[in-house]
Order: sequence, then C-alpha cells, then structure tokens
Amino acid sequence: MTAPRTFNIVVLPGDGIGPEVMDPCLDVLRSACDRAGGLSLSFETLPAGAGTYRDTGSALPDATLDAARGADAILLGAMGLPHIRYPDGTEIAPQIDLRGLLDLYAGVRPARKVKGIPSPLASPHAEEIDFVLVRESTEGLFASHHKGTIEDDRIARETLVITRDNSERLFDFSFKLAQNRKSRGSPGRITCVDKANVFTAFAFFRGIFDERAPGFPGLSADHAYVDATALNMVRRPWDFDVMVTENMFGDILSDLAAGLIGGLGMAPSADIGDDHAVFQPCHGTAPDIVGQSLANPSAMFLSAAMMLDWLGERHEVNACETAAEMIQDAVDAAFATGDLQPCEMGGHAGTKDIADAVLGAV
Ligand code: ATP
Repeated sequence: MTAPRTFNIVVLPGDGIGPEVMDPCLDVLRSACDRAGGLSLSFETLPAGAGTYRDTGSALPDATLDAARGADAILLGAMGLPHIRYPDGTEIAPQIDLRGLLDLYAGVRPARKVKGIPSPLASPHAEEIDFVLVRESTEGLFASHHKGTIEDDRIARETLVITRDNSERLFDFSFKLAQNRKSRGSPGRITCVDKANVFTAFAFFRGIFDERAPGFPGLSADHAYVDATALNMVRRPWDFDVMVTENMFGDILSDLAAGLIGGLGMAPSADIGDDHAVFQPCHGTAPDIVGQSLANPSAMFLSAAMMLDWLGERHEVNACETAAEMIQDAVDAAFATGDLQPCEMGGHAGTKDIADAVLGAV
C-alpha cells in the first residue's frame, strides 16, 4: 500500500469568529481526506492578527510568515478587531499584508447559490447564480495601504497603481479560469470590470485585457463599467460567469456578490499567486456576533474545498479534488431541504448545528 500524500497546511485562525469557524473546518477537512483516501493534511496552527499584535507588538510574527512561505497552502479564518489599531488609526490586517508578501495577485471570489439558502432576489433565476469574481489583490487602490498621507490636516491622498506585468498575469489567470469553467459547462464569458470612461489607469487596465483576450480562444470577452456592473449584479446576476477587476472594486463587489447568495457566511475566497495561496472566507471577524456560536462556518468550509481543489490541480493529486467535491456536496446537502437556516438569515442554525450537519453529510 502506498503512503498517503501529505500536504503541510499553515492554519491562521486569527481573531473574532475566525477561530470559531476554523475549528469545525479542520474536522471537516480531516473527515473528507479520510473518506477520499490516499491523502492527509498536516496542520500547523500559528498566531497572527489583531490579538497577536496586542500581545506581541507584531501582527504577523516572523516565525508565522516563514512557516507560511514554506507551507503547501495557508488556511486563514479572519483577522482584525475594531478596538485594536495601529497608531495611525488603521485596523490590523495582516491578511492584506500577506497578499503583498506572498505575491497573491488573484483574489478568487466564487458566488454560487446554494439550494435552500434564501437569496434577497425574488426571481426564480436566483437559483442559477454561479459566477466568479477575480479581484486583483496586490495593487490598485490597495497599493496605497500604509502609504496614505495627510497634509496639514487639509488634504488626504491615496494613489491607485495598475502595472502591466501584474495585469497581464491577472488576466491570463482569469481567462484560464473561464476556460476551465467552460469545460465544466459554464458559458465561457469573461467581463473586465473597470471605470475606463473616466480614469486613465482603468483605460490602461482595459487595454491590457483586450490585448490578452485573443490568446484564449473559445471565450466571449467583454467589458462593463463598475457602476453598471453593480446595477446588473442585482438585476441579472445569473448572466455573469467570470468577472475580473481592480482591488478596491473587487472588495466592494464581492460583498455585493455574497449578499446575493445569502450572506457573507456563504462566500468563500482564495488569494492565489504563482507560488503560494491563502484560503479564507470573504467575511471579516464579525465582532458583533463573536463568542455566541452564531457564525455560519460554510464560507470557511467552502474555502477549504477551494484549497483542496487548488492543491489537487497543482500537484496532480486526484484525491484532493475528490475531497473538495465531498465538502462542497456536503454543504449543499446540509442546506438542500431548507430546514437548516443560518442565524445570519434570520434562522436558528448556529455554528455547531451547521458544522454537525456538514460533517454528517461528509
Ligand atoms: P472586514 O472589513 O474585515 O471584511 P467587515 O467589517 O466587512 O469585515 P464582517 O466582519 O465581515 O464585516 O461582518 C459584516 C456583517 O456580516 C456583520 O454583521 C457580521 O455579523 C456578519 N457576518 C460576517 N460573517 C458572518 C458569518 N460567517 N456568519 C454570520 N454572520 C456573519
């Protein structure tokens, strides 16, 4: 019998509801890997976040960063607390710093409607919502993170940066993603979301998208302005397949996307680079519900499934993809009847109810 393939996963539970959703997630991962067979995950849990900053003076200790660099993948809960801040008043957000430090340029934010979870949209087409927003994650307006200035208490400035090299790899990543999804039955449509009618940087961004598009035949590539996109995401979100956009626009639109599929507790994400990747739910630390067992852990579970998928594709290990599918199917099965309604949506299912249901389904 061959030994199971082992992957080293650095686990950063973080702050607030981060640890509350991470604990059951590790159980779900262990169970799915056992069932899939031929696969094992070795978890190393390390400190990072606002609590770590308060206790040690560093939000991302060197030992944590070194381990993250050496890991096969990084699983992150959530980080930041409103009452713990840097001297300039900004929140502690090492998850944003990690994107720059590990060069994680593609923020992948899938929005897939799970049957049984209500959408705020009344249309029956809401059941068809299944798109991916790719948020550029290392530059755009966030290039200014920690670098904003205030002059004489009169003028504040932040600078948006778009570079050719980064945009080319971001678009290539997104076109490949659209091709991949097309091979699984999606329409093969990709939309560049920008504000090219007003800003030079976005005209540049759009121009690079147009240059790269012919290299990926079989896709329909188009553009949309970010304001019109916000409108159409509410009107006809089922028409979208893959969207690719700048960092700040992606930050905002991905919360809108989460709202369409029932809330942040259902929205997974991945920050992917050429050498590293971090998988974390779209949500933050939700200080308003911390410690009450109200957090929906589904986004964390679905992020873990994305991690397995990424590991499987990268290392050509089919068992990873099998385990990823098990987790996604288990989340779908847990909610399918509509009886399990997360507190976030006005229901009574707390963290443990949802975790037990998903674990049972795995
Ligand atoms: P960040 O800026 O770090 O992304 P945020 O300030 O946007 O964070 P969140 O912490 O994501 O805010 O919370 C936004 C709202 O969504 C809060 O009311 C919170 O309780 C709710 N929420 C977030 N995640 C979950 C979850 N997993 N389950 C239930 N409710 C959640």
